[in-house]
Amino acid sequence: MTSITFHGGIKEIGGNKFLVEDKGTKIFMDFGVSFGLQNMYFSEYLKARGSNTLIDLIELGMIPKMGGLYRLDYAKHVGLEDSGEKQIDAILLTHAHVDHCGYIKYLRPDIPIYCSEESRLIMKNFDDTGKDEQYLNATEKFQLKEGKSGKTKGEMVKETGQKIERKIVTFESNKKFSIDSIEVEPLPVDHSITGVHGFILNTSSGSVANTADLRFHGRRPGETEKFVEKCSEASLDLLLCEGTRIDASSSKTEFDVEKEVTDMVNSTKKLVVCGYPIRDLDRLQSFYNAAKATGRDLVIEPKQAYLLQLFTDSLGSKNPYPSLTDEHIKIYMPKGKWGLIDKDISVYTRRLLEQDYDEWARPFLNLPNMIDYSEVSKHQNELMFSLSDFKLQELIDIKPDNGSRYIRSLTEPFNDEMAFKQEKIKNWFVTFGLIKSDKDWHTVHVSGHGDGEQIKSVIDGSAPKKLIPIHTETKNEIYHKKFHSNVTIVNQNDKFEM
Ligand SMILES: [Zn+2]
Repeated sequence: MTSITFHGGIKEIGGNKFLVEDKGTKIFMDFGVSFGLQNMYFSEYLKARGSNTLIDLIELGMIPKMGGLYRLDYAKHVGLEDSGEKQIDAILLTHAHVDHCGYIKYLRPDIPIYCSEESRLIMKNFDDTGKDEQYLNATEKFQLKEGKSGKTKGEMVKETGQKIERKIVTFESNKKFSIDSIEVEPLPVDHSITGVHGFILNTSSGSVANTADLRFHGRRPGETEKFVEKCSEASLDLLLCEGTRIDASSSKTEFDVEKEVTDMVNSTKKLVVCGYPIRDLDRLQSFYNAAKATGRDLVIEPKQAYLLQLFTDSLGSKNPYPSLTDEHIKIYMPKGKWGLIDKDISVYTRRLLEQDYDEWARPFLNLPNMIDYSEVSKHQNELMFSLSDFKLQELIDIKPDNGSRYIRSLTEPFNDEMAFKQEKIKNWFVTFGLIKSDKDWHTVHVSGHGDGEQIKSVIDGSAPKKLIPIHTETKNEIYHKKFHSNVTIVNQNDKFEM
């Protein structure tokens, strides 16, 4: 008997956590953050308490209450009953978007995470450049030891926890592997982050596919087509089918984005400032291509530079994205902790300048294509300057000339909090002359998710016997029903028997 329990990712967009049980094998497909619940209860200043995280998240229904799943340091600290034995055999990760992977950091490090190499690199980027992210390793918290000397001799004192590496198992696209009784076929699909895989699971009660998040209008539509073909060959018993934009009727393509951006850059005399998601490397590619086509260089921020470096180092000649040494790439170093980038190095020393930055960013100081605000300011008509919403202060130093422009390539706000944030962001661009009014606020963006037609073709092409809608709002489940005759609607924590 095989069952799937839905601990998130149904009747909402994201938060996927599907527990698959087959002959004693237990795996979770994704272990993501529910943005819906997070918005409902939390804000920038109201969060789960650091010392009580697991209980806070369990009580609010954000993660399931389960033994043998969570890190023992966290679980024991809040008195969660746990036998100490691992109860879950693996996490099978579709991709490294937070609504699919965000709660991995609370899991036991001995539960293996099966993911693509690209997803591993993106999670490494989170770990190395973020604050207290713990995707690839877990640093033990709440540890004590006996004081050895001084005032605390013989007393219990806090101990710096050990860093425990998680078991990360990277799979190869299209190459089947088994987790105990479940055979997994990982199939790449096109989405707004690289390394995404849908899965076909062969279980003792039949075959199940999980679409992950997908579309046909990105740079890699062929991958999604191949996924559907494989699903069709598998004569699926069940399809878990996403429906984020199933109510939408059309989609621009990533190539449209590239063309629009290129046209906008061509008609801009001075600096082009651009905002796009830094981990969407296919979008980076669109901006990079636009820079190349218009004879400009693309200036990227350190976190994105670090990600590109990880891809080059790991994938070598198979890396499809620009390398840091590319002649159209420049790396921007913002002011560090002391702001020494523009200070006299003979006074402040090279060592102090390096200490101005986190370790991962220091090597960029030595690259010949590293630039700072004064270079950007001087060469405005030669550059496209990528600037994320969290780094807008750079505009104060750069001072864009008249005739500069901002191109926004990010998702539109879909709730009040996001709309409120966007108003603040606009204020910056108005103040620095990059937009004059709301009229000049152009968003050039395509979604990572297929529209109704696209999802219909996934359903028709895969021809599953049964379908369960995932990653979609309740109001949109009617579309799945329109597109398939045997749809089962499940609720949070429902167990579906195959
Ligand atoms: Zn996604």
